[in-house]
This record gives sequence, structure tokens and C-alpha cells, in this order.
Amino acid sequence: MSKILAVTNQKGGVGKTTTCVNLAASLAATRRRVLMVDTDPQGNATMGSGIDKHQLEYSIYDVLVGNCTIGEAIQETDDAGFSILPANADLTAAEVELLDVPEKERRLQNVLDSVRSEYDFILIDCPPSLNMLTVNAMVAADGVIIPMQCEYYALEGLTALLETISGISRTMNPKLHIEGILRTMYDPRNSLTSEVSKQLIGHFGDKVYRSVIPRNVRLAEAPSYGLPVLKYDKNSRGAIAYLALAGELIRRQEANQQAVEPRQTLS
Ligand code: ADP
Ligand code: MG
Repeated sequence: MSKILAVTNQKGGVGKTTTCVNLAASLAATRRRVLMVDTDPQGNATMGSGIDKHQLEYSIYDVLVGNCTIGEAIQETDDAGFSILPANADLTAAEVELLDVPEKERRLQNVLDSVRSEYDFILIDCPPSLNMLTVNAMVAADGVIIPMQCEYYALEGLTALLETISGISRTMNPKLHIEGILRTMYDPRNSLTSEVSKQLIGHFGDKVYRSVIPRNVRLAEAPSYGLPVLKYDKNSRGAIAYLALAGELIRRQEANQQAVEPRQTLS
């Protein structure tokens, strides 16, 4: 069964896009069928996957406002190994254009439903705000991955994010849950990093992924070549860390399925 995960945090620069692109490539490397959905008008995930956001015939904007089907907008990446529903600055207009449309928060969910069965994982890269696009992503998703930089201000804003998640799970999407908290740009030598990390584990327990993403210059360089780090420098610490994260995600999913199945056979 496919899993839809929104990579979200309304803070900018915490590693959402880096996580989306590199987790997508790492899952694809384990032969999973992956679709990455860019919901940020900045189109960084699109560019970072080797698709030129200035040359799109159709983008997610066209899909959301009904100019084309999702199938017409999805593209295959050349080297990254996954499919992408790309975005560019057109998407900025979507918020206003969808204002009077019924069920505007369910637009993405409705279009993803039609392709869901074709993928094992659908990863949604969210913009750095809690706007209508982020709400669309959370309504469409089964779970959220929250990348966090373990620094002084990391926990600030987390309450607003958690309230948004629980609000959406109460109203529009009861299955929505926190899939995992990911520590990004991790520097174990920094005592503040360890302190914030401890606080995160204290609060979220097992939800915090064991895999951490180190600060690694290869991760910052790869997007300018339109490549995930796995295709840019597969031996880098960044590439190894995202492969480990993909493995952890898959193992957790398999463990959850096993935990659920016996109960299903009883009922
Ligand atoms: P967001 O999508 O949350 O705004 P990005 O993924 O775009 O964040 O990351 C912000 C910047 O930090 C980018 O320039 C990116 O290349 C860089 N970056 C992200 N993760 C790492 C990392 N683990 N090591 C080094 N640089 C990173
Ligand atoms: Mg981003």
C-alpha cells in the first residue's frame, strides 16, 4: 500500500527540500516507486531534481486549478530515479484562485488519489509557512516528517505546527500523524545540539528518527547540479545518512504493518 508523507516545518532553511529530494532518491534506490510533489512556489525541489522550473508545460498549479490532469503534469527525472509533480512561481496564484472553490483544502488529496496506486511512496515538499498549500499537503498525507535543526530556536514555532497537525487530524484527516522527527544539519560536537536533541527525544520519544543528517557540504552542492546527493557523491556522509533514513522508514513501516495485521485477522 502506498504511503503519502508531507515533509513540513514552517521554518525556512531547516532541510525540508533537501530531505524530500534525497529521501525520494534513496527510496527509489531501494526499488520503491516514488513520486515527489513540490508544493513550494520557489520550486527548489523541482530544480534540485534536475527539472527546469522555467520550462514547465504544466505544473502543480495547473493540476490544482484544473487546467490539466495530474498525469499530464508528472515528469520523470533523468537521473534521480523518481517521478515529480513540479512547481514554480505560478503556484503563488493558487491560493487566491482557489479561494471560492468548494473543498479547496482537498484539491491535492483528490488529485493524488487518482495516481496513488502507482507509487509506493509519495513525498510532498511543503513551503515554509502554514498556508493553504501546506494544509492541502497535510490533508492529502498519511503522516508528516518534521525536519528540525537542533539549534536554539528550533523548538520555537513547533507548538503552532503541532496544533495545525492536530487540528487537521481532528477535522479533515483523522489518519494524519507524526511519522517522524528528523534531526538535520546535525553536529554532535556542539553541546547545544545535544541539549536540543535530548529535549526532542524527551518530548517525542520513538518518533525521533535514530538516523541523523550531518551537516555535509555535498548535500548543499548537489542541487546546483540538479542531482540528489546519491547521484552526485554516493560515498558522501550526506548520501549515506539519507540511505540510512530510507532504511529506517521502511523498517518502521514494515513493523507497523506486522503489528496491525494480526488484529485484522481476528476481527
Ligand atoms: P528548507 O526546504 O527547509 O527551506 P533546504 O533543504 O532548502 O531547507 O536547506 C536550506 C539550505 O541548507 C540549502 O542551501 C541546503 O543546501 C542546505 N542544507 C540542507 N541540509 C544540509 C545539510 N545536512 N548539510 C549542509 N547543508 C544543508
Ligand atoms: Mg524548501
